[in-house]
Amino acid sequence: MYGKIKEHLQKELAGIKEAGLFKEERIIVTPQSADIKVDTGEDVLNFCANNYLGLSNHPKLVAAAKEGLDTHGYGMSSVRFICGTQDLHKTLERKIAEFFGTEDTILYAACFDANGGLFEPLLTAEDAIISDSLNHASIIDGVRLCKAQRFRYKNADMEDLEDKLKEAQSARFRIIVTDGAFSMDGNVPPLDKINELAKKYDALVMVDEAHSAGVVGKTGRGVTELFNIRGEIDIITGTLGKAFGGAIGGFTTGRKEIIEMLRQRSRPYLFSNSLLPAVANAGIAMFDMMAETTELQDKLHKNTEYFIRKMKDAGFDIKPTASAICAVMLYDAKLSQVMASKLLAEGIYVIGFYYPVVPKDQARIRVQLSAGHKQEHLDKCIAAFIKVGKELGVIE
Ligand SMILES: *Cc1c(COP(=O)(O)O)cnc(C)c1O
Repeated sequence: MYGKIKEHLQKELAGIKEAGLFKEERIIVTPQSADIKVDTGEDVLNFCANNYLGLSNHPKLVAAAKEGLDTHGYGMSSVRFICGTQDLHKTLERKIAEFFGTEDTILYAACFDANGGLFEPLLTAEDAIISDSLNHASIIDGVRLCKAQRFRYKNADMEDLEDKLKEAQSARFRIIVTDGAFSMDGNVPPLDKINELAKKYDALVMVDEAHSAGVVGKTGRGVTELFNIRGEIDIITGTLGKAFGGAIGGFTTGRKEIIEMLRQRSRPYLFSNSLLPAVANAGIAMFDMMAETTELQDKLHKNTEYFIRKMKDAGFDIKPTASAICAVMLYDAKLSQVMASKLLAEGIYVIGFYYPVVPKDQARIRVQLSAGHKQEHLDKCIAAFIKVGKELGVIE
């Protein structure tokens, strides 16, 4: 009988709307890019995609996806271990391991699945997971699916992490778990210090590089490159859905035995379909591009540095960041929404975030830079921020 729950859902939905938390979707009628068109007819500059390297509509990846369709077909109709593994999947897994300097890789349909299926096959109630308080929802869910004891340390706080490691010393195995770049602030955890603490207190380290891979580090190899500890981190998870082309797909890469065990026991791998050949082939082309040149990283780093410098010069309050995420702090929730819609009217597409997505009174507009942004895009965005910022009294 749908009647009762229908009424209940209608009430809940009305509540979400009243609280101003109802998520509307803007409809884009062009490929994902730095400049896009929405279904209401406006052309806008896009500063809110995870398209960090501007690869979402790159001709080489589009061509590789088409080639994958022609040579390997459309779908796999199987999980990997039954009849869903093609040469393309094995090649892509190897390329990912080469990129990160790891031993082996296992592909998933998404990074959400990689994180969801990571902990339960490796750890039991005898073990301990020590997790950063700002970790992504998929890590939180993955941890929930596992019986290990849970410890939470304050965001990137090494004293608190050390306290939690001490508390967890009686566990059989310990693992420290962190995002590589935190999505709301753009900060990066001190992975070198985490690695030292892991050695001191005999713990494994897992990093989710969803927002950092392709972006952070001189050649975009992620946080292990930034801190010069390539090959030392036990487990890295990541996505093909952000910097790496933005289509779909996730992975876990790291120590050989860990990956091997995941192939045996990880539930999203065992019970969910294989990545489509077109995406696997485009992924291979993408990692080949990464191996050839760091042009896109160079451009992204230049764009990010320029944007942040100009915004600070204009008087905006910018959160310290080490990624391509730039949080323009406004503190007031309503202001963040008014400012985002005024920016949209100026042709700049950005999103204002407020509680509960960020802490109370920490409302902000998040700007995501891309190698796909041209100089004129950046200048137009900065000019719009200055104009609207002055109108709203955010800057003088
Ligand atoms: C986006 C994101 C994910 C999810 O990646 P998908 O491949 O889209 O499922 C996981 N972890 C972090 C830290 C993310 O930012």
